[in-house]
Amino acid sequence: MSLIGTHVSVAGGLWKAVERGEALGCEAIQIFTKNQLQWRASPIPEPAATRFMAAWAKSSIRKVVAHGSYLLNLASVRETREKSIVALVEEIARCETLGIDDLVLHPGSHLGDGLDNGREMVAKGLMRAIERTPGTRARVLLETMSGQGHSIGSTIEDLAWILDRVGDISRIGVCLDTCHLFAGGHELRGRSSYDRLVRSVERHIGLERIGCWHLNDSRTEMGSRRDRHQHIGEGFIGAELFSCIVSDPRWEDTPCLLETPKGGPGDEGNIALLRKMRGH
Ligand SMILES: [Zn+2]
Ligand SMILES: [Zn+2]
Repeated sequence: MSLIGTHVSVAGGLWKAVERGEALGCEAIQIFTKNQLQWRASPIPEPAATRFMAAWAKSSIRKVVAHGSYLLNLASVRETREKSIVALVEEIARCETLGIDDLVLHPGSHLGDGLDNGREMVAKGLMRAIERTPGTRARVLLETMSGQGHSIGSTIEDLAWILDRVGDISRIGVCLDTCHLFAGGHELRGRSSYDRLVRSVERHIGLERIGCWHLNDSRTEMGSRRDRHQHIGEGFIGAELFSCIVSDPRWEDTPCLLETPKGGPGDEGNIALLRKMRGH
């Protein structure tokens, strides 16, 4: 069975995220392990990690996924690139400290330097971060992007190219964001579109490398290359896709995480809707 959940805040302490997720009835949650808009963060004190893991162990939350900082850009130049590799190494270490197996990462932006060069830089940056974190379990999940600006990873083929280049299957996977895929030009309306997407993922990436889904409807049209999340069933994608995903047995134990706006039906409403679609 798919694991339904949402992104939750860590305000007040990492363990608070577990409490928030549990109150919403989440089976999986996503968190930032540090301020996503800052480069540096002090290391996680041991008591904080212990408290987080204890709260998680006794909760009904099966999986926790971390989302990396928005500042990281492995395809950037010089200092920002180096800083990004160091920051990624630190984020992997934070996941390890917290017992988190998956870290979602935006592949990056080539800043006008061309997609081919950008993909190569991302792959090499990932390989360096992996080299510097031997013996760790955390897997980096490259997220599909909407194609805004010079972002890398708006197609399944782009991500597959990077994965093939990096190679290490135990350390790298993919996060499929429905809003980003749709904005990037993938047709997702209707069951046959969903089946086509999954076949493409299977052929180019492999289903076992899909670490999680981000379930977001889209406030803008297919191919808009804009990243505007909407409540489930209230955007241009519509409800059917989400029903296909959460009820598909191939996503057994795979976190299906909301990143929908606050307000409106809220997390409660979106989670209840996904549960209904799944049938329990
Ligand atoms: Zn993201
Ligand atoms: Zn996302």
